[in-house]
Amino acid sequence: MNMFLNASKIYRLMEKVYVKNIGISGIEPPKDSCNDKKCVWHGKIRIHGRIFKGKVIEAKHKHVLVEFYRYVYIPKYERYEVRRTRIKAHNPPCINAKEGDTVLIGETRPLSKTIHFVVIQKLPSVTGAIVEKDSEGLKQ
Ligand SMILES: [Zn+2]
Repeated sequence: MNMFLNASKIYRLMEKVYVKNIGISGIEPPKDSCNDKKCVWHGKIRIHGRIFKGKVIEAKHKHVLVEFYRYVYIPKYERYEVRRTRIKAHNPPCINAKEGDTVLIGETRPLSKTIHFVVIQKLPSVTGAIVEKDSEGLKQ
């Protein structure tokens, strides 16, 4: 262990899991550990740029499809329109998000041709219920 590694990793005595400091406050690290290189907490990638909250609508072997709704203002009609955004994100084994989960995804370097986001945290189901209610309300 050299000095650089010691500085960038926090040793948690209770769970004996090495977790990186990802530089964003208020985000809980996962309880499990993994050997995935493309994991924010245990691998080599870093988060920079945008962070979104969305619902997992499709979970594949190593990636998930996350969907969320946003408002866009239309000046001509002085009203808001709802637009849907779908983003593919890498799903590290320590988080293992399933279909229907609400997750936080963060922008990172391109991990493959179409993936440049990674799942940071699985949010508790209470928050997921609120998001679901919101998106249903927007559809009407
Ligand atoms: Zn991990």
